[in-house]
Amino acid sequence: MRTVGNNSDDCKEIQSLIPGYLAGKLSLKEAKAFTAHLKKCNECSDEMEISYLLDEGITKAENGEIIDLHADLQAMLDDTDGLIQHLTQYRSVVYLIESTAIFVLVACFLLFFIIK
Ligand SMILES: [Zn+2]
Repeated sequence: MRTVGNNSDDCKEIQSLIPGYLAGKLSLKEAKAFTAHLKKCNECSDEMEISYLLDEGITKAENGEIIDLHADLQAMLDDTDGLIQHLTQYRSVVYLIESTAIFVLVACFLLFFIIK
């Protein structure tokens, strides 16, 4: 699944998102690009593992928790994927509600004039 030799500009951009990802501050669009890229790019995965280790690993080690870096990261990416899917669905629902609301408004507006 993973391949080496991606566009390095992409990698730079993705790697600049790592702190934001770990802090949970990426936008939906950024998170989508981030997880998709990490799954296919070893270089950025490695970079992410290092950052994660520095960020979370130390806290966990201090608390005496066992660190399974690879499994942890995989779970985190899966969580993000789930969240993205959830948010994407949520957005479609919001969009549907908004379109319906506009339709109802237009219908009311027309009815108002017909009754008048
Ligand atoms: Zn990359």
